[in-house]
Amino acid sequence: MREYDYVVVGAGSAGCVLAARLSEDPAVRVAVVESGGRDRRPEIRIPAAFPKLFKTSYDWNFSTAEQHGLGGRELYWPRGHVVGGCSSVNAMMWVRGHRDDYDAWGDAAGDAWSYDGIEPYFRRAERWTGGGEGRSVYGTR
Ligand SMILES: Cc1cc2nc3c(=O)[nH]c(=O)nc-3n(C[C@H](O)[C@H](O)[C@H](O)COP(=O)(O)OP(=O)(O)OC[C@H]3O[C@@H](n4cnc5c(N)ncnc54)[C@H](O)[C@@H]3O)c2cc1C
Repeated sequence: MREYDYVVVGAGSAGCVLAARLSEDPAVRVAVVESGGRDRRPEIRIPAAFPKLFKTSYDWNFSTAEQHGLGGRELYWPRGHVVGGCSSVNAMMWVRGHRDDYDAWGDAAGDAWSYDGIEPYFRRAERWTGGGEGRSVYGTR
């Protein structure tokens, strides 16, 4: 029987990053367990095609509880059931968020959570191909 140092349950956005980072150390054995199948459908890589995956085997096909504010209706709530999780069924939009929101975190939790504290991590996640330095219009005062 194989033994692992870490078992990551769910190969979604967070699970895949976590497993990739943990397995950078060749001495560490990592298993990733995913309930859904492989991410082979072309619609997974075409941004505007993601609704084609709704209510297929790539979707958990959840519904919300009855919503009192919506006359008791239940809403369809897509969630990715596939390697990549919701990042395989999402719209591929990238938004850093507004500086003021992060600065409010910084006020409450310390400078590391302020916009200036978090911006290096945004940059690390981005591949910037435009001009300038990739500064968000919301990232400057
Ligand atoms: C339709 C849609 C459009 C979106 N558009 C955007 C967008 O354009 N830009 C953006 O930034 N965000 C978007 N999002 C949000 C973003 O994709 C999610 O917030 C993010 O992917 C969630 O990551 P996660 O790791 O928390 O969960 P997930 O990526 O959902 O990962 C969870 C994984 O765990 C698996 N799993 C669950 N239970 C089990 C189990 N018991 N055993 C094994 N595996 C299990 C699931 O199958 C899934 O693969 C969108 C989301 C949806 C649904």
